[in-house]
Formats: sequence, structure tokens, C-alpha cells
Amino acid sequence: MNLRMLVFVTFLSLVTVLHSMMLSTGQKDLVEYLVQYRYLQPNATDAQLQRAIRFFQQKFNLTVTGIFTQETRNFMNKSRCGFPDILPEEYSLYDIKWDKKDLTFKIESFTNQLTQDQQRTEFKRAFDEWERQTQLTFTEVSGTTEANFKINFYKKAHNDGSDFDGPSGVLAHAFYPRTGDIHFDDDEDWGVNVSSKTDLYGVMLHEIGHALGIEHSDDSSAVMYPMYRGYVKDLKLHQDDIAGIQELYGKYQS
Ligand SMILES: [Zn+2]
Ligand SMILES: [Zn+2]
Repeated sequence: MNLRMLVFVTFLSLVTVLHSMMLSTGQKDLVEYLVQYRYLQPNATDAQLQRAIRFFQQKFNLTVTGIFTQETRNFMNKSRCGFPDILPEEYSLYDIKWDKKDLTFKIESFTNQLTQDQQRTEFKRAFDEWERQTQLTFTEVSGTTEANFKINFYKKAHNDGSDFDGPSGVLAHAFYPRTGDIHFDDDEDWGVNVSSKTDLYGVMLHEIGHALGIEHSDDSSAVMYPMYRGYVKDLKLHQDDIAGIQELYGKYQS
């Protein structure tokens, strides 16, 4: 084998190695994503993986192939809420709600990217939007007073088993009643009323839904849709969100 041939063969095998490395990283990310959002159990078979991909594609109106297509990959790369899309069967809608109507929230930590007033205003605005549709009320408390909803900003691991992932990807997550914690990923670029940043109000509106006991919606115009839809001016709850909250807590009565 002459030198030129050797270089060429080495190059070819390098390409092959790189290609298979990329494939397996892609496959690993795919499985991790599907397990994280509960489309798939860990250690699933290839057939189960194919079924899970198919179901994911169906749910988000992608071309249904059961194969990890570029379209599917791009969709999975969207920024989103970290709450699972599929809930375990033991969750019954009526077990997971607050047992009282007057609820409290506490902002335990802030991001340094915005003023505390800005953050407080956006959180309050989001609670008000839910309050308009139900018989619930939300009051801010501070100091040592216990609150139903505890709001915090964290980076990466923060001791709840759901680590944040740095910029983009998971933006926030929340816990069902009667935990009620709401966590924001402080590695995101948070903004108020600007389309160039991640909208704090829009994400908060969504997370409050979970903290009240509402799961993800397949309706892409609902606030409870799992994917971040960018900044929407004057974002309001959609009919699908309102139906969800009123099913749990009844209609607003003045
Ligand atoms: Zn969510
Ligand atoms: Zn968390």
C-alpha cells in the first residue's frame, strides 16, 4: 500500500467512525428525550422505540414514520417545558388539585437578568390571568410564611431529580399539587415583552397550569402546549386551558 492509498483508507475509516459516533449520539439523545418525557420506559426494545417515535410524531403532527427523521430531530430540539408529556396512569385528574381556593405564592429567588419588580409584575400578571377564569385567588407572601407555590431560579442540578440543561432546551418545570414548586432555568436569556428573549410571563403562565394540576395539551394554540412558542404579545389563556382549569376548580363567579 503506498502512502497516498494509506492516507485515503485512514480518511475513509475516520469518516466511518465519526459517522457511527454521530449516529449513536443521536440515538442516545433520542432515547433520553423519549424517556424524559415518558414516551418510553428505560431499556426499551427497538420495537418499543419505534412505537414511541411514531406516537410522538402523531401527537405533534409530524410525518409519521417511526424513524428518527430530520423533521423529528428538529422538533425535539425546540425549547420546551420540562414537565412530562405522558403522565403515569396512577395520576387521576381529581387526586391532584388544591383543596382550597385561596392560594399563596412566594418568590424565593430571582434571576439577576431582570429587576425584582419586573419579575414580580410578570408573575402577578400570570397568576391574574388564571384567577380571571376560576374561583381561585393567588396572594403573594414573603419572609418565613409558608406558600403553596414556591418560585425559584436554578442552574443545572438543583436537588429535585430534574436537572436543568443550560441555555435552550428545557426552560422551566413545575410540580403538581400539592407540591406547587415552580422552577426556572437561570441559564436562559429571560426577558419581559421582547421577542428576542425567552418570555418570563409566557413561561410562567404555562408553569402555573401544572402547579394547579393541568397536564400538557396537544393543541398548539393552548398555553399548556409543551413547546415554547416564542413571545406572544398580550398572551391569554386559550379555550382549551380554560376548559382544563374550570373542570378542576369551577368557573369564575364574581
Ligand atoms: Zn409544561
Ligand atoms: Zn426543579
